[in-house]
Amino acid sequence: MRVTWSAGTHLTFRLDPEDEITGQASDEYPIKLATNSCSIGGVPGDAHPDLYAVAAWTIVAPWTRKRITFDRAISAELARALHDGWGVEAGPVGAEPRKPGARLAISYSGGADSVAAATIFPEAPFVHFRRVAHPRVPNRWPHYRSDVLARLAAKTGRELSTVTSDLEYTLAEPRPGYPEHHAVAAGALLLADRLDLGGLGFGYEMGSRWLGGGRYLWRFTPDNPMWSPHGRWGRLFAASGVHIVLPVGGVSEAVTMRLALGSPLKDQVRWCLRGTDGPCRNCGKCLYKELIQAAVERRPLDTPITADRSMARKYLKKPPYGGQEMIQYGLARVPGIENTLFAPALDYFDVSEEATSWLEHCYPPALAEIPEQWRAQAAAFVEENVGLMTESEVRRVESWGSA
Ligand SMILES: [Zn+2]
Repeated sequence: MRVTWSAGTHLTFRLDPEDEITGQASDEYPIKLATNSCSIGGVPGDAHPDLYAVAAWTIVAPWTRKRITFDRAISAELARALHDGWGVEAGPVGAEPRKPGARLAISYSGGADSVAAATIFPEAPFVHFRRVAHPRVPNRWPHYRSDVLARLAAKTGRELSTVTSDLEYTLAEPRPGYPEHHAVAAGALLLADRLDLGGLGFGYEMGSRWLGGGRYLWRFTPDNPMWSPHGRWGRLFAASGVHIVLPVGGVSEAVTMRLALGSPLKDQVRWCLRGTDGPCRNCGKCLYKELIQAAVERRPLDTPITADRSMARKYLKKPPYGGQEMIQYGLARVPGIENTLFAPALDYFDVSEEATSWLEHCYPPALAEIPEQWRAQAAAFVEENVGLMTESEVRRVESWGSA
């Protein structure tokens, strides 16, 4: 793989003979390449070469097999992190490593998890990633309202850098999106020198960090290659002087929902990518989040979605479901759930409140892996607003998916 950044903002990459246009993201999901260029706007034209290298790697990693050649020399430390993590030869080598900055920024999407992370660090600046059209790829996803999300981010009153990028259109399949989940941080990495960043906070919660949620494995994953500090991405980011920080990595989506709805940013919370004046209420994401919100607010489910709709049909089948721990939590706590489209799933779970109480507390090892300069603030917030898991609740996390 050969990577060129022109004007510091336009990335072009050329595949070597051994590279391929099909690959897997770090969560093992199969993906396919659409095109070999993209741009990032709202960033300075100059940054440490290791930042350029990591930003590029979030976009080209799935296609690269043996080596990557950058257009500027990187540090030996960064080359080593690429080699240890992916087995690729990276170069040329010759730069001094980047010294970590002093500040933590939040990679801010406006969703409940991201708002919860932001609430723990009220002084942290936001970096918001906004999707824009690609000059050479048609946009078949016009319902994705990135403009609405960017406007909401601007209303938070926080110090905000909005990064615009078409990098998601480098992906042909399954649809436009981040080649690696970390590509959402590409703009934040290029801003790291200007913003003096030593850490970047993501809204990934316990399901994503510890339970193998999302597209991943559905079992306890202490060595999660994407989000653990000792995993390959954690070590790569650290080598560029920008630590991955997960302020809400130890709590469930029930807790992030509760924190977000009680946050000063509550009027800007938006997890749906479709609605303009509010969430659309009609997509799979809205249904899932409505279940969690109804459980947190202890009220009946309020959704126009009926059992015959495609996004409801998966609950007619056996688990596992994406976000399964939260489905179980909702089943245990939403009044009248037996009369909703979730009723078929009741057969598969212990829906006692006791069996789901662990989802209301923080898994302590998640605090221990926050870098020291930000750990005390996160721990104090969690102690005051959430509470730590008991020993038996900790065992629920650590035996997840092994029963
Ligand atoms: Zn929606």
